[in-house]
Amino acid sequence: MDLTNFQKYPPFRLAELHAHIAPAISPSIYWQIAHDQGFKLPKKDYHEFIEYVTLSEKRKMALNDYFGKIYDPLLHKLSSGTFAQEKAFYETASGAYRNHIDLIEIRVNIMKSNNNGQQDLDHIIMAELRGMERALLEYPKLSAGIIFCLAREFSVEKNAIMVDKAIKYHKRGIVGIDFAGPATSSFHYKDYKAIIAKAKKHGLKITAHAGEVKEADDIWEALEFIKPQRIGHGIRAAYDKKLMKELVRQETVLEICPMSNLMTKAVENKEEMKWILQTFVENKVKFTINTDWPEMIEGAHLWRQFAMLLEENMLTMEQLQQCNKTAFAAAFAKKGGLEAYL
Ligand SMILES: [Zn+2]
Repeated sequence: MDLTNFQKYPPFRLAELHAHIAPAISPSIYWQIAHDQGFKLPKKDYHEFIEYVTLSEKRKMALNDYFGKIYDPLLHKLSSGTFAQEKAFYETASGAYRNHIDLIEIRVNIMKSNNNGQQDLDHIIMAELRGMERALLEYPKLSAGIIFCLAREFSVEKNAIMVDKAIKYHKRGIVGIDFAGPATSSFHYKDYKAIIAKAKKHGLKITAHAGEVKEADDIWEALEFIKPQRIGHGIRAAYDKKLMKELVRQETVLEICPMSNLMTKAVENKEEMKWILQTFVENKVKFTINTDWPEMIEGAHLWRQFAMLLEENMLTMEQLQQCNKTAFAAAFAKKGGLEAYL
């Protein structure tokens, strides 16, 4: 079986569990969204714009720099509002299917997509669902779901509003809750114990960005207080034997995003990435392969990441197939396409 020719002859269909909407919108769609609404862009030329927003081998950036310079001021601004969100969810879900993905979970912070509170959250959520539903209607073999990202920098009260909205729209396809954003001194998982228990009671599944960078090494806390089914990234766990044991015990699945970690320098180089992945294999920690930012990193489409991992001998074909199986099994999204939510 040859993964290097995946695009032409895919040996198997993929599941994507960790993709944020803003960096999952292709630059050409951003270009359309911006011009449809008359937004001013930092670059007037299309190709210069793509270079400006995309991370690549030549253009790596620390996570916080990218957030401060591009993600928050530009991507969030352009992808905000009902018009942009509907188009973004439709284009992203349908584009995923065309790129060999049969199941996609897209995550979004609805309070960062509503033009700083100017737009009604229910309108935003309905726009996202409309976009997803249209893609599911057009591609009947596709399954999808939406995960709401709480923000570490938001107050507990503000995040609780998003959890209530997720519960309200759960039957329509809001399938999970995530914790995202840079570490802050005021954020503690213990403050979310009751809120997350309520979300779980209503059928929502939980994931949390944790253990991506040394500064946000709080997997232990997440496991203790919110017991998520999955952890976003979690790569720091490879350096903690006891923690790996606990992940296995709780059957927590890691959402590994190899290219993202390399581009944001969360991982030093490919050797370190390989060591991390093989350490998880040896210690029987379950993990999946995801993109995080499929369109804002050059060559980051999911099938290309699988091919890269094989080419660079980071994982064997059998191990890659196992990752993909684990992803389908650990998915929050209901399988069965549009029918699943009707
Ligand atoms: Zn992420």
